Amino acid sequence: MELLWKLKKVLLCHPPSGLYRRDDRCQSKVDDQTVRVVLPPLDLAYHAAVLERLGCQCKIADYPSEHLTWENFEKDVREFRPDLLLISATYPTLASDLEAAKRLKTLLPECLTVARGEVFSVWDKLTLQKYPHVDMVLTGESELSLAALVDGRSPVDIPGLTYRYGEQILRGPEPELIADLDALPFPARHLLKNHLYRSPDSNQLLTTICAARGCPSECIFCPVRRVSGVKIRLRSPENILEEIQECVEKYHIRDFLFHADTFTYHKRWLIELCRLIADQDLEIRWGCNSRVDTIDEERIFWMKRAGCWIIGFGVESGDEQSLLWMRKNASLDQARKAISLCRKYGVRSHAFFMFGFPWDTHQTIRQTVAFAKELSPDFFDFNIAFPLPGTEFYEMAKEEGLLVFPEGEEAEGYAKAIVRTRTLSPEDLERWRTHALWRLYLRPGYILKTLWKTRSLPVALNYVKAAMRRGRGLLKKKSNPQP
Ligand code: SF4
Repeated sequence: MELLWKLKKVLLCHPPSGLYRRDDRCQSKVDDQTVRVVLPPLDLAYHAAVLERLGCQCKIADYPSEHLTWENFEKDVREFRPDLLLISATYPTLASDLEAAKRLKTLLPECLTVARGEVFSVWDKLTLQKYPHVDMVLTGESELSLAALVDGRSPVDIPGLTYRYGEQILRGPEPELIADLDALPFPARHLLKNHLYRSPDSNQLLTTICAARGCPSECIFCPVRRVSGVKIRLRSPENILEEIQECVEKYHIRDFLFHADTFTYHKRWLIELCRLIADQDLEIRWGCNSRVDTIDEERIFWMKRAGCWIIGFGVESGDEQSLLWMRKNASLDQARKAISLCRKYGVRSHAFFMFGFPWDTHQTIRQTVAFAKELSPDFFDFNIAFPLPGTEFYEMAKEEGLLVFPEGEEAEGYAKAIVRTRTLSPEDLERWRTHALWRLYLRPGYILKTLWKTRSLPVALNYVKAAMRRGRGLLKKKSNPQP
């Protein structure tokens, strides 16, 4: 099977199907997160950059971030008239995302519709069977595969591509990981409306930078290993610095979020990167995610010097046994040390907790809430464990009959339980989440300390606004009795 033409015009979009994080391992509703941050569509910007190198004309549309509707999508299709539509889909929004293919085909039947996203690493054939308007789906790291498709290569030879061939649905070769991340062009930020993406506290322009891909850890709820592999592939510090400089000079962005599955894992690389950034005196600040077992005094010293102001940690549970069962390979003591190191160096900490695993009971959740209180990080989130298809957690929940939604259906997000545990109902889990957030955020001492730490009236006001928004959301759910 061959495409006889090269595709010249590509529309890449986050469809108007709700404002969601569209990462492989985080596919949650933005409004469900305590710190509401709208991040740029880095996935689309990377794909567009690779296509532009081939001479394609690309348009990126992030409809949810702009609060735009299907009418806007259709208008763009009529005006831009793409040869190919790339849809970035998540598991919770799958059906609504793929509505884009249906609408496009009614306007431009010849246009090729391709969807990408973590969900297709499991549901590739199923998706093509169920959604006839989608021509192809891409799994894994799909930048180079999309480029090959657009360049006219036969789908038979394209890694990670599942496609139609007459009545059949076929798979190309296994997806390939991109060995040299430095070889990728910088994301096409000139195609983004950069003013839309702002730091939630300072309201300054914010962007994400992909520093590494892959993770050797084995958390049973996480799909990263399947998509990005178990080996961490690092960009060179020089290459990352060049991208930061481009952001500062060309786009006036000085606030960054490093996107890496385990940013602090390789100590020497991390320190080298931090030294390079610190030497440039760029007046930037940044945040990142980390694991509690990959942070120490030397790392955090250099991170702080290079402008790090916040670190997110997946602490997950206050119960050692739960940590073992979810194969987090981290202990409560490591979490205590990580948060206290942040405190010592004046770096904010954001701890993420999760419950809703088969073994969770009132007692394990109570312990988790108590542990969050003991740690006292600057910010915290409680998510209800979300069984992404293909993960060990999903298989476990399915086997035990704990999934409470039909397989293949759309689920709402991480604040809405789609599983029960062996002893708790979905409603119990939702009540616990509301209760935990309410109880921990509404401590007068916590509120005063958080506002005091801002040392800036506008930032303090942004915190108050965020707290009111969060409080309103929780109040709606608070009518449920305490667990
Ligand atoms: S540490 Fe665990 S949750 Fe984080 S990326 Fe690795 S496998 Fe996923």
